[in-house]
Amino acid sequence: MIECKFVPSVCSYCGVGCGILFHVVDGKILETLPLKSHPVNQGKLCIKGWNLHEFVMSEHRLKSPLIKDNGQFKEVSWDQALSEVSHRFSQVIDKYGPDSVGVLCSAKITSEENYLAQKFARAVLGTNNIDHCARL
Ligand code: SF4
Repeated sequence: MIECKFVPSVCSYCGVGCGILFHVVDGKILETLPLKSHPVNQGKLCIKGWNLHEFVMSEHRLKSPLIKDNGQFKEVSWDQALSEVSHRFSQVIDKYGPDSVGVLCSAKITSEENYLAQKFARAVLGTNNIDHCARL
């Protein structure tokens, strides 16, 4: 049986914050639709918003973490990557304080993930150094 659902979210491509609906079939996002009831866009999207879902299924998307070792990227597990990031953050923060680090987010993740990233920066790392490419 085919599973079809419409998942509401917010476009992550710019600061306007248009309401969208992802059309999801069997776990794959097929298209992005405007959320008619959203007060910001009232059923409209710009061309970027209409194509918001395309990067999710892109064959060029990285599917596992990479760590640079002697100038070369090598694939590692999520446990290895998170352990390395945690270790490096701790080293720098211990030596120079929390404002010596920062987090750069991307329009290629969801608004909800961006929200979690700013929570991580502020509540875990202890810095307000958080920025996003959509603000540029
Ligand atoms: S649909 Fe266009 S205007 Fe609306 S948030 Fe996305 S990029 Fe911005």
